[in-house]
Amino acid sequence: MSDGHGEPNHQRKDSVATANIASDSPVTDPGQVRGGNAEGAVGKFEGQRGKSGALKKSARYRSRSLSASSADSYSSTSYTGSSSDEDEGVQPHEKAIAAGQPNPPYCVRNVEQHAFGRREIEIAEQEMPGIMALRARAKDDKPLKDAKIVGCTHINAQTAVLIETLAALGATVRWAACNIYSTQNEVAAALAHADSGFAIFAWRGESEEAFWWCIDQCCTPTGTWQPNMILDDGGDATHLMLKKHATAFKQIKGIVEESVTGVHRLYQLSKAGKLCVPAMNVNDSVTKTKFDNLYSCRESIIDALKRSTDLMFGGKQSVVCGYGEVGKGCCQALKALGCVVYITEIDPICALQAAMDGFRVVKLNEVIRQVDIVITATGNKGVVTREHMERMKNGCVVCNMGHSNTEIDVHSLRTPDLLWERVRSQVDHIIWPSGKRVVLLAEGRLANLCCSSLPSFVVSVTAATQALALIELYNAPNHRYKADVYLLPKKMDEYVASLHLPTFDAHLTELTDEQAKYLGLNKVGPFKPNYYRY
Ligand code: NAD
Repeated sequence: MSDGHGEPNHQRKDSVATANIASDSPVTDPGQVRGGNAEGAVGKFEGQRGKSGALKKSARYRSRSLSASSADSYSSTSYTGSSSDEDEGVQPHEKAIAAGQPNPPYCVRNVEQHAFGRREIEIAEQEMPGIMALRARAKDDKPLKDAKIVGCTHINAQTAVLIETLAALGATVRWAACNIYSTQNEVAAALAHADSGFAIFAWRGESEEAFWWCIDQCCTPTGTWQPNMILDDGGDATHLMLKKHATAFKQIKGIVEESVTGVHRLYQLSKAGKLCVPAMNVNDSVTKTKFDNLYSCRESIIDALKRSTDLMFGGKQSVVCGYGEVGKGCCQALKALGCVVYITEIDPICALQAAMDGFRVVKLNEVIRQVDIVITATGNKGVVTREHMERMKNGCVVCNMGHSNTEIDVHSLRTPDLLWERVRSQVDHIIWPSGKRVVLLAEGRLANLCCSSLPSFVVSVTAATQALALIELYNAPNHRYKADVYLLPKKMDEYVASLHLPTFDAHLTELTDEQAKYLGLNKVGPFKPNYYRY
């Protein structure tokens, strides 16, 4: 049996969790994952815990001075672009290539938008206390000194705070977007601009070809760029590197993966014996799952729907497919605004939870004719089919909060009998010969990421988790992690949460010696067994 999140065994020897402690053998399933010693990354900064107290806004970090990439000839030879956001017909990389720069130091839509993007980043910093606290605590130690990180995540103001934190901790980065629609162009511009000097390859509305070109710009080793870490969201950078740059891939010290899909792909690689480096599954860390999936989606589903459709929710009928973390968040928000909410589920436990929470559990077919809003949140494919959409009523809004673009069968709507009318950015009316319109958001991609902004505070939790995972993998002694997939040690999860508590002036109760002995816990944590469900 594994020791779950990998806290040092000695810490929990007499604990109530003894049953969960066992060998060091790695496993390749999220349900039974071991990890290395948690002391590494957390221990490094814990001594500074008391000193730091509530988050103080640090002096604005000037990434240029720290990012070794800035030495990679950014400024004068940079491809700057000059197009506006409306100029979406021309892909910036095509312009760069046409201008004789097949490998530009960065490639964004319009670098002149940088000042606007910088303000966006500064706003995000205010609401990202955890990652800013980590930056303040660790910037002198430089735990990522000489790390060369390939990043492939959404590129927005919040990830910019993460990118600048990683650079402040000593890393050099090259970054591409993991989604063709979610890049905030002005933020990409701020990061790429000479004031910051990051190698950013991303813009909103990338073509499929551009998407892979951007990632390849980050993965390809050069004379000055030999990546040694990957921070991935979806597994695309990992897989491109493995397939196209197999030799360079072997030099990677660790992969940190955020998404369900990417983690799934890592476990598949591991099972097939093709994963030759350690990887950290941050998707299944408690902090990430609860905060990113549940609390974030609870807020952003409403924002996405309102911004794109001006919808009023009171009295509307909605169906949410999947009552997992994301589905629960969506349902809570819709219910709070007076929506009638139906649930579809395949899992009797989640279905029962939905019923206990006061929702009707139905098959999609039973309610598809009457609902005003359809939201998918299953992580699955083909959940909403053409047949379902045939039966929807006029004006029904369909959107996906779950996995990539697979949950709604958008492909099936591309038939000659249906007219697609783009009514707003990320909003299409699909018009049937009868005149019926179905409102499709973001062509079935993640509605909240494409149509709204995420709560920065929640991203702070995820970003701090990712940064700690990178630090842990980068600094771990060779024997701690084998070529396998690990969960973040629970002590780090707790550390991420503690970084965010000062914002709320929340005061933790400390265990007395007697209480710690009674519960079999170390006074500084971890406080829960690995099987505990929060
Ligand atoms: P989860 O596993 O907790 O929940 C998914 C639920 O869907 C499960 O309960 C499962 O039983 C159910 N399900 C599967 N197939 C179904 C089907 N055909 N019909 C009805 N129900 C079905 O996962 P989660 O944490 O809620 O994440 C769901 C998806 O959302 C994942 O793909 C994840 O990557 C994605 N996600 C999106 C965001 C966002 O910002 N939009 C944030 C986090 C995660």
